[in-house]
Amino acid sequence: MVESNSEAPLLKDLDKCVHCGLCLNSCPTYRELGVEMDSPRGRIYQMVQVVEGRAAMTEDYLEHMDLCLACRGCESACPSGVQYGRLIEAARAHIEQNVKRPWHIEAFRDFVFGTLLQSRFLLSLAGRGLHLFQASGLQSWVRRSGLLKRFGNLENIEMLSPPAEAPFFFSQLGKVFPAEGGRKHKVAFLSGCIANVSFARLNEATVRVLQKNGCEVHIPAQQNCCGALHVHAGRKDDARELAKNNIDATLDGGYDAILTNAAGCGSTLKEYDELLEHDTAYRDKSIAFKAKMKDINEFLASIEIRPPAKPLQMTVTYQDSCHLCHGQKVRAQPRKVLQAIPGVTLKEMALSDLCCGSAGIYNVVHNDIAMSLLEKKMKSVNATGAECIVTANPGCMIQLQAGARIHGKGQPVLHVVEVLDKAYRG
Ligand code: SF4
Ligand code: SF4
Repeated sequence: MVESNSEAPLLKDLDKCVHCGLCLNSCPTYRELGVEMDSPRGRIYQMVQVVEGRAAMTEDYLEHMDLCLACRGCESACPSGVQYGRLIEAARAHIEQNVKRPWHIEAFRDFVFGTLLQSRFLLSLAGRGLHLFQASGLQSWVRRSGLLKRFGNLENIEMLSPPAEAPFFFSQLGKVFPAEGGRKHKVAFLSGCIANVSFARLNEATVRVLQKNGCEVHIPAQQNCCGALHVHAGRKDDARELAKNNIDATLDGGYDAILTNAAGCGSTLKEYDELLEHDTAYRDKSIAFKAKMKDINEFLASIEIRPPAKPLQMTVTYQDSCHLCHGQKVRAQPRKVLQAIPGVTLKEMALSDLCCGSAGIYNVVHNDIAMSLLEKKMKSVNATGAECIVTANPGCMIQLQAGARIHGKGQPVLHVVEVLDKAYRG
């Protein structure tokens, strides 16, 4: 029997699955492991058993739910309209409500989700430590020495450490950047949490590209983390508080659009209405927020992009970020932006919408599967012969940068807006 305050998946949502199996080939974990219980259909079957009280939340159940990348590839493949993203998020929140983990894991999760991701001070402090490690040459030495090979997956995990890009973008919060050539749009830019440290240059490029295209860009001071990592980890109450704050930070600003350059964040930001559907004070506000929320590619493709003065001679291949193509159904827009840049040639890779293995912190906690997915992804990338890999999500960029180093030819990995920014800057 499911209690009234339960976060459990709803049976009416689960029942949409007709067990046809048409999603199986789109599921990275099923392709890797070949196990029915690690397929979308198998996971939905297990959720039904648990929700109906016919099975307990065993270690096995937790493992199968945890192994899901939440990439939502199955959602795109499903002809019955199963909203799998909603189901896996609910299943994890249900687990969070009912399962007590060992105290040290609980304490670590509380620190990361409840403190670190919500603190500009701690993120900056961690960023400064990482910057020292990278800028001092210690990181290069550790990589060259092969020291970490002795510690299991640690070498691969270190490869996935994000860059620390000083000066951090936190210093830009609260600022307004004027439009070039007259204001056509007034937009708010949500700059993320970790991205303020690790993708400060991408955030700056995003602002420049928007300014070039007639946007007055506001970086609301009160904004905070979008809550995506919290939702994926089942911590919906944390995510709800973050969502309310982001709504308060932006909704009354009179913006034409609220923008993000991170597909993973965008997916959650656009689903604040689901997160707050039972909150009487924020339900309508979250719907109004969603109506203005756009991915940067979506926004740029909807306006007339100012053409760069000079061509940018470059062949690129585009990796669809899962939360952009499957979560937000945004596929054509990034390609449209790339193709609007004179000199850029887009070479499509095979299976561009199959997950690269990044998936938030999946590549750290399930490194073996993530690295196997990455190896296959890089085969598709290398087969195109493209000199640059382009994508639309910081998490995917980190994963693909590791892929280019390990299995590729060291190709640069850029965000779509960075390619456009390069073209503008000649
Ligand atoms: S999730 Fe959709 S595609 Fe997959 S088995 Fe169920 S109904 Fe079929
Ligand atoms: S979200 Fe991705 S990994 Fe999870 S079941 Fe669907 S396709 Fe498989």
